[in-house]
Amino acid sequence: MSKKHKVGVFICHCGKNIGGYINIAQLVEMVKTIPDVVISTDQKYMCSDQGQAEIKKALQEGLIDRVVVASCSPTMHEKTFRKCVSEEDFNPYLYQQVDIRENCSWVTKDIQEATYKAYELIKAGVSRVKTLEPLWSTEYPVTPTTLVIGGGIAGIIAATDILEAGFKVVLVEREDQLGGWARRIGKGFPHLTPIKDFLKEKIEVLQSHSGLKTYLSSEVVGLEGFPGNFKATIKQADDTTVEEEIGSIIVATGFKPFDARRKPEFAYGESTQVITTVEMEELLEKGELSTNGQPKEVAFIQCVGSRDKSIGNEYCSRTCCMVVAKQALLLKELIPDARVSVFYMDVRAFGKGYEEFFEKAQRSGVIYIRGNPSEVYKSGDKMLIRYEDTLLGRPQELAADLVVLSVGMEPAEGAAELINTLRATADKDGFFLEAHPKLGPLDTFSDGLFIAGCCQGPKDLPDTVAQAHGAAARATVYFHQDKVIKEPVVATIDADVCSGCGLCESICSFDALHLDEKKKRMTVQEAVCKGCGACAATCPSGAISLKHFRPSQVLAWVEGFLS
Ligand SMILES: Cc1cc2nc3c(=O)[nH]c(=O)nc-3n(C[C@H](O)[C@H](O)[C@H](O)COP(=O)(O)OP(=O)(O)OC[C@H]3O[C@@H](n4cnc5c(N)ncnc54)[C@H](O)[C@@H]3O)c2cc1C
Repeated sequence: MSKKHKVGVFICHCGKNIGGYINIAQLVEMVKTIPDVVISTDQKYMCSDQGQAEIKKALQEGLIDRVVVASCSPTMHEKTFRKCVSEEDFNPYLYQQVDIRENCSWVTKDIQEATYKAYELIKAGVSRVKTLEPLWSTEYPVTPTTLVIGGGIAGIIAATDILEAGFKVVLVEREDQLGGWARRIGKGFPHLTPIKDFLKEKIEVLQSHSGLKTYLSSEVVGLEGFPGNFKATIKQADDTTVEEEIGSIIVATGFKPFDARRKPEFAYGESTQVITTVEMEELLEKGELSTNGQPKEVAFIQCVGSRDKSIGNEYCSRTCCMVVAKQALLLKELIPDARVSVFYMDVRAFGKGYEEFFEKAQRSGVIYIRGNPSEVYKSGDKMLIRYEDTLLGRPQELAADLVVLSVGMEPAEGAAELINTLRATADKDGFFLEAHPKLGPLDTFSDGLFIAGCCQGPKDLPDTVAQAHGAAARATVYFHQDKVIKEPVVATIDADVCSGCGLCESICSFDALHLDEKKKRMTVQEAVCKGCGACAATCPSGAISLKHFRPSQVLAWVEGFLS
């Protein structure tokens, strides 16, 4: 006969998020009728100290041996409550979170319907929690060295922080020098400070640390192991490879500017009178504009390669509006009698001091034309821009000596291959995908792998630098703990049932399953397993199950709904 359990159910109002849409008093009473529920109670915020104290008190007094919290999604607070119960020496895997916010109150209009739905969700959670078994995390030693891939400003800042925290860094840069695109920027918006000086200083500080090992003209071509204990294979320019042992990884491989040749209607590559903002940055920096005969009529075209469905880049490149405002302003300062126009859809000046900087550019005489250029072509010694003035709603033309295409950002060359090597995930545009846009912007779905800067998406320098500091902090969490704590929700194999067919090995995205050649049975490398369950779903003989989600535990959940 199965053991009788004492389940405590703690219901959260989440302020009005749940309390405003569900009749909590009625729900508390309904939950009391569920078999084996010995406590059904509510709190304004279960995650508050007061809420957690109530759970702890019930555990201390031995009133319950299973805990259910009905609140927000497990992504938000499962860890909080697991920690809360473990502080009372209670196994955290005997805890079940039931989401009655995202799954219920936020998406159900009628209060009675929402109350009943919450009850059903809790009933299923109670049914499941009674089948759970205690699990224990495992601990692994850690190599306190971070591999930083990419030596642009993001990589430099992240590496410096890690070195300053007393750990080691292996920095791999594809080019023969550090700096990335920041090396090619003259003055930075909005304060027009010289970026090269800032970069030079940052590189000097970085290189002053003895814990740094730098590989220039090199790339990472292989990665094995698990968080805390990776082995990276680095390919150097003389085609030799070396291996480095590392504990965590930060990807900071940045971006590449959009290739303007992919918009042939703008005649880039056909005339020296059509350039990109990357080339204009260089001309302004080197003071070489005279080689183009001091242009008197200059036209910038915004959003070339961004916000453009026709070439598959629907996203905004975020920096281009400000890059153009900067270059147009500097151009007016250099050639005051030049007529400088900017064709734009709308201006996105979102950063601190950016709106004021955009206004400064306008006040200097830069003309902003709300227009959609469709074609640029040679006409005599000028370039003719054909465009639709979207305010006047009619086609217009403008003759210019120089056309500057404001090119957007795309994932760096080879990003797809690197994503594959690191077993990371690409977003729909090919950038590295973060684990969660709000709650895990620097993490990836691969433990121990973090991202910073433009490899995650277009960014200006302030955002890049902020992310780099954050990624450095995330990448060293294990180092401070001196160990990696591995959650026990991993695949497990019943060796008596396993036939060693290898289907699970082929489906595993994390390389966690291998055939034991001697025994002809599969084995799980628990440190690598992410507990996704793909192998368990694939195994034709049912030899694999996922701890915490065994068939009996999942079925109990379903039966809870149906009962
Ligand atoms: C014309 C222009 C002007 C700009 N002006 C400004 C400005 O005034 N103010 C501002 O805030 N921002 C400006 N920006 C944006 C700024 O350049 C970026 O925010 C910044 O460079 C992002 O830094 P990052 O380190 O993420 O990427 P990157 O600068 O791209 O650095 C990435 C590094 O990684 C290396 N790398 C790539 N792939 C690999 C690989 N597989 N293995 C090893 N190494 C690899 C690259 O060689 C590079 O060194 C401008 C951008 C452009 C194009």
